[in-house]
Amino acid sequence: MALPPRLSDEERNRALEIAKASRQERAQFKNRLNKGEITLAQLLDSAERSPALAKMRVLELLESIPGYGKIRAQSLMEKYEISSTRRIQGLGRHQRQSLLKEFDIPNIHQRGRLLVLSGPGGVGKSSVAKALRLVDGFWVSVSATTRAARFNESEGVDYFFYSNERFDEAIRNDEFLEWAEFAGNRYGTPAAAVNEALAKGIHVLLEIEIEGAKQVREHSPEAHLVFLEPPSWEELVSRLEGRGTDSPERRAARLALAQEELAAASFFDTVIVNERVEDVVASLIRLASA
Ligand code: 5GP
Repeated sequence: MALPPRLSDEERNRALEIAKASRQERAQFKNRLNKGEITLAQLLDSAERSPALAKMRVLELLESIPGYGKIRAQSLMEKYEISSTRRIQGLGRHQRQSLLKEFDIPNIHQRGRLLVLSGPGGVGKSSVAKALRLVDGFWVSVSATTRAARFNESEGVDYFFYSNERFDEAIRNDEFLEWAEFAGNRYGTPAAAVNEALAKGIHVLLEIEIEGAKQVREHSPEAHLVFLEPPSWEELVSRLEGRGTDSPERRAARLALAQEELAAASFFDTVIVNERVEDVVASLIRLASA
């Protein structure tokens, strides 16, 4: 047998790096499949374009489907006569079709729509979110935060109020769809409830700040990102000044931040000016059903 070619250290390191990146890509897709963020059909589709993904073993793939352990995955492989070492790239046409039929998971169009509402602090996102809570077929995600509860807020309704330790643990356990720091506190969207609602065909609204919205774009390209703008800068200032719940220092910091935040509008799919809450809600309903 011919000996494998001898590699220089540089070539060897490069090969190791490529292998590591491929492993990471496969792990990321398995994770998303397991969380219900993508369907089997979407993963197989992506494998057509990604050599790293095409090399994933079919057994590994099936084990990542929610509710499928080793034994169920193996028996499915036997049912469709797929050898235990087969990789996605080696699946026959019939085997592939059988698997897709077996997991007749609702496709992306039957899932709920993920809407992200962002914009500068004080623009009125929470009033919009509050109004949307009353609309049938919509669910507004409840975030976790390390910020202390305001006098008019309740646990599980406005936020889940986490200690710093609990927030760290949630990050470690990959519980968040996104999380970010804002004005000295941390905020995060618990992923499980969002995925559950979307899988049931319910539209989900995340009311979050801009860095979080950017993270959602990376993980969930199908999400629709909406930027809420104030009718004018003066209007935003008067709304922030009029907030009785913040200290003067915090209000000043929020004003400075709002100025930076307004510049992020171009990153979003849709910009809506918040003239009237009802009109914004109507636009969001239209976007979800588009
Ligand atoms: P507040 O402290 O006024 O309730 O919220 C401060 C900012 O945090 C707001 O811009 C709000 O949209 C944002 N926020 C609330 N929940 C989340 C979340 O889960 N993730 C991110 N990234 N931002 C959030």
